[in-house]
Amino acid sequence: MSRVYNFSAGPAVLPEEVLKEAAAEMLDYKGTGMSVMEMSHRSKAFEEIITEAEQDLRDLMNIPDNYKVLFLQGGASQQFAMIPMNLMKNKVADYIVTGQWAKKAAKEAEKYGKVNVVASSADKTFSYIPDCSDLPISEDADYVYICENNTIYGTKFKTLPNTKGKDLVADVSSCFLSEPVDVTKYAMIYGGVQKNIGPAGVVIAIIREDLITEDVLPGTPTMLTYKTHADAKSLYNTPPAYGIYICGKVFKWLKKMGGLEVMKERNEKKAKVLYDFLDQSKLFKGTVVPEDRSLMNVPFVTGDADLDAKFVKEAKEAGFENLKGHRTVGGMRASIYNAMPYEGVVALVDFMKKFEEENL
Ligand SMILES: *Cc1c(COP(=O)(O)O)cnc(C)c1O
Repeated sequence: MSRVYNFSAGPAVLPEEVLKEAAAEMLDYKGTGMSVMEMSHRSKAFEEIITEAEQDLRDLMNIPDNYKVLFLQGGASQQFAMIPMNLMKNKVADYIVTGQWAKKAAKEAEKYGKVNVVASSADKTFSYIPDCSDLPISEDADYVYICENNTIYGTKFKTLPNTKGKDLVADVSSCFLSEPVDVTKYAMIYGGVQKNIGPAGVVIAIIREDLITEDVLPGTPTMLTYKTHADAKSLYNTPPAYGIYICGKVFKWLKKMGGLEVMKERNEKKAKVLYDFLDQSKLFKGTVVPEDRSLMNVPFVTGDADLDAKFVKEAKEAGFENLKGHRTVGGMRASIYNAMPYEGVVALVDFMKKFEEENL
């Protein structure tokens, strides 16, 4: 068996330890004689899995008691609608557009109310984070929305926007659990888990309790109402049970690694290897302004589309998978999530050095 270094933006690399554990428990989960896939979501065994998963996440992120943790389905994209349906009480929201995902979220919200784009970095192909210290926040905005780490463009908010007292909603799909976070600064944090936590099919939403009400837009389906899931502890209907089980294992792995402070240090060390190389390379160049660079997604180019394609092809042959940039931006992108080992990034940089020597 040989595993590649997988730089996919998502679904993405998971800790090998977690995969091995899941494999060992595949046929008989802790003496139940069945796989977690085959188990009732109302069973005692599964109840323990979901309860422990939530508690471990609460420990990792230091989530205050007045926030609910929901395990949902429909992908991060479904939240683009659920957020306005549930939170747009005045039918007004401010969006900061720093990439495709925020743009899509804003577009979806327009179906339900007035959306003000209060800042954008579209003018420079989303290669930076706009100054958000003094935005024209709307008086009657229900919330201010950001995509905290832009998976496609490789930018990250290093400081949160000044929302002037309005509730902040953040899509953290691609930076979930990559560093410590102060949950109290947000009204809602959510993300699809398939980038940095687990298998596709689970969305985790952390929402301040007072926002979870029956006062939703008329016609909002039961399944798209946060209260439904909060009241039923994410067991209103069959949840994505196996995915939640794997997320739970990843939470335990993160705790064992030392928690989010340690992950941040590891992630910084890993990203530095790649960014330092890019900054001195005569062939490769990072596409993001240094101060806004993501620790998770690192886009880079040679400036020549043919050479980019050659690099991606040769990298793949050498065991470095999924380095092709997003279809809307081209070039390359290395996603170096929590589970990507330091050695993987060092090996990639060695390969890039060799490619540079051969092709310059
Ligand atoms: C991948 C991604 C999404 C979309 O996730 P789906 O689960 O496929 O809907 C949304 N936001 C961000 C930041 C992403 O990286």
